[in-house]
Amino acid sequence: MKITGVEPFHISVPYNYGGPLQKADSIPWRNMETLLVKVTTDEGVTGWGEGFGFTICGTTGYAVTHAIAPLAVGRDPRDIAALTTDIARKQQNCSRNGPVAFALSALDIALWDIAGKIANQPLYKLLGSKETVDRMPAYASLLRYGSVDLVERHSARAAEQGYVRVKLHEIQTPQVAIARKVLGPDIKLMVDTNCPWTPDQAVAMAKEWAPYNLLWLEEPVWPPEDYAAMARIRKEGGVPVAAGECGSTYADFLQLIDTAGVNYVQPSVTKIHGLTGMLRVVELARSRGTTVAPHSPYFGPGLMATMHLSASMPEKPPIERFFLELEASPLGDWVNAQDGHMRMPQGPGLGVDIDEAVIAKYRIG
Ligand SMILES: [Mg+2]
Repeated sequence: MKITGVEPFHISVPYNYGGPLQKADSIPWRNMETLLVKVTTDEGVTGWGEGFGFTICGTTGYAVTHAIAPLAVGRDPRDIAALTTDIARKQQNCSRNGPVAFALSALDIALWDIAGKIANQPLYKLLGSKETVDRMPAYASLLRYGSVDLVERHSARAAEQGYVRVKLHEIQTPQVAIARKVLGPDIKLMVDTNCPWTPDQAVAMAKEWAPYNLLWLEEPVWPPEDYAAMARIRKEGGVPVAAGECGSTYADFLQLIDTAGVNYVQPSVTKIHGLTGMLRVVELARSRGTTVAPHSPYFGPGLMATMHLSASMPEKPPIERFFLELEASPLGDWVNAQDGHMRMPQGPGLGVDIDEAVIAKYRIG
C-alpha cells in the first residue's frame, strides 16, 4: 500500500459567537478557518487530517504541499510512527514546532484515519478502548468578549445548554466574577488568558481570582515556556495551572510536568505531530500522575481525533468545544455538542464522512 496524494484544503466559514468581530488585539477572526488534509492511497482508502489553525492555516497548507507531501507520497501509510518520525527527522530544522509541525500533525491524523479504516474499527477502539463509548463530556470554551454583559449572557446560555464546565478567555476580574455569579458554585469554571502577564502580574491575578474557585488558570505568562514562572504561580498564587497548547515536542511536556509542575497538560493534536505525539504525552503524563486536558478548539478532523483519543482513555478528559455556531461544516453535525456532550462516531477511523461539497463551497487560497 502506498500514499498517492497529500492535499491541503483551507476553508473559511462564517461563524457567530454572539460578540463583536474577533479580536481587537490580534488579527481579526472574520471567519472560522480550518486546514483539512486529504491523504489518498493506491488501494482507494482515504484519510483526513487537520493542521493548526485559524489565521495561520494558509501557511500550514503551504507546508503540507512543500515540506510534507513530497516526503510522504510513495511511502507505506501503515507504519505511522516510523513514517512521521522519518519525515520529522528529514525536516529536523523546522519540524519541531510551527507550521511544518502542524502540517506533519495533519498527515499523522489522516494516517490514523486510514489505519482505523483498514482495521474496520473506530479509532478509539483501535487506540485501546474495550467498551463502546456513545458520547463524551465537553466543555464550553467561550471566545473573549471583553464585556461583562456578554460574558454574563453567554455563560448563562452555556449552562442552559447543559454544560457543567465553562472556560472563559478573559483577562479582567469583572468578567470572571460575573461568570462565577451566573454559573453558581457547582459548574466548573476555567480561565484561559493566552499568555498576557509577567510572573509578578500573574501571581497577583491568581490571588485576586481566588474567590472564583477556578478549576484551572491557563497560560498565565509570557513567554509560554517560562516553566519556572508557572511553578511560582501555582505555589504563590495558589491556583491550579494548565498549559501545553504552545508545546510541540516531548521535551516541552517534560518541562511542563517536571519543572513547571502544571496540574493539567494540554497537548494539541493538530500541533504535536498528531495522535502519535499525543500518545507519547499521555504516557508521560500518566507516568508522572499529571492530568491530560487536551486542547481542541477547532472544527475539523483534529476535533474528531481528540474525541477518539479521549474516549480511549479511562480518564475520559472532557472535550474543548468552542462555544460558537458555524454556518456549515464538512463534518456535518458531528462538530456540535448536545446537552454538554459530543456524540462519538462509531464508523471506522475517525468515523466521519467528510462532505467535500461543503469544502468546495468554503475553500479559499
Ligand atoms: Mg488555550
